[in-house]
Amino acid sequence: MGNRAYNFNAGPAALPLEVLQKAQEELVEFQGIGMSIMEISHRSAEYEQVHNETQALLKEIFSIPEGYQVQFLQGGASTQFAMIPMNFLKAGKVGSYVLTGAWAEKAIQEAQLFGEVQLAASSKDQKFMKIPALSEIVIPENAAYLHLTSNETIEGAQFQSFPDTGSVPLIGDMSSDILSRPVDVSKFAMIYAGAQKNLGPSGVTVVILREDMLQDLPKNIPTMLRYEIHAKNNSLYNTPPVYSIYMVNLVLKWIKGQGGLAAVEKNNREKTGLIYSAIDQSGGFFRGPVDVGSRSMMNVTFRLADEELEKKFIKETAAQGFVGLKGHRSVGGLRASTYNAVPYEACKALADFMIDFQKRNG
Ligand SMILES: *Cc1c(COP(=O)(O)O)cnc(C)c1O
Repeated sequence: MGNRAYNFNAGPAALPLEVLQKAQEELVEFQGIGMSIMEISHRSAEYEQVHNETQALLKEIFSIPEGYQVQFLQGGASTQFAMIPMNFLKAGKVGSYVLTGAWAEKAIQEAQLFGEVQLAASSKDQKFMKIPALSEIVIPENAAYLHLTSNETIEGAQFQSFPDTGSVPLIGDMSSDILSRPVDVSKFAMIYAGAQKNLGPSGVTVVILREDMLQDLPKNIPTMLRYEIHAKNNSLYNTPPVYSIYMVNLVLKWIKGQGGLAAVEKNNREKTGLIYSAIDQSGGFFRGPVDVGSRSMMNVTFRLADEELEKKFIKETAAQGFVGLKGHRSVGGLRASTYNAVPYEACKALADFMIDFQKRNG
């Protein structure tokens, strides 16, 4: 596979080559049924096996305790921004949020359409370059839940540990770092993630929900936006995104084959370690704007002295087969997204390129 790019796209993002090859092998005829998985009923035994196996694999790999269920929804993580307050933000309660960057901000804006929002902590004054310390998080007494964004994909800042919220349900948007490391799922009442960064292709949103969250939910909201409906129907109330779920199934098997999340985390640390040390050892030629203690293991953001030099960097990397290194349009700079499926070799090649680029331009 000599001409696969060094893919650092932020999302949709790299998929494991083995997964793509397996999907290709099974594309026209899925496991001897004479059809593609895309061509059969979502109520068929063959599809249901994939659906249920995918839930079971996620529970196993992510060590999800008893009493949680896995839902496969549509509309992306962005629809969860609205579903969460619609379902859980009752009158007289407030939605409490940790404001850590662009994605947390979007979740907050959506919640404000439905009720009162209070910030439990914010790093806006630090331009989102530092995740608030857990001790800085103040949960209002009448909080319906506490929402946080475990990894801010655009700024490149990531929670390194999670708060204990007692009886207040903790909800985590893990769209860009789910399954990148082991997490104590029992701290959370709900975890959600659009699949297209670390789990598979776009089209499915994975929701992990503690069952007690399903009590006393409002019934006067659109059917498709009710967690209760998806719970009762095992995410088969209507046609689910069958192919995306099938791809998530393959990615989960790939993760299992890697040795699970401890092995995945070790690999991710080594991968980003290469890039962060190219930054740190550059004597200021490259600048990592994020506080060292909040650095993301999934999205490495960095800057050069000026935009001209950054443009040159992008141009030269593109010519050498690197893709997706331009920072998000809202923040500029450079960003390497090093999700699970990005190989060590790609990160090594980037770190080597950075060192060479400095030699030629420093
Ligand atoms: C990409 C991303 C989203 C948005 O996901 P969609 O599935 O496109 O709606 C939300 N939160 C985070 C942290 C993200 O990285």
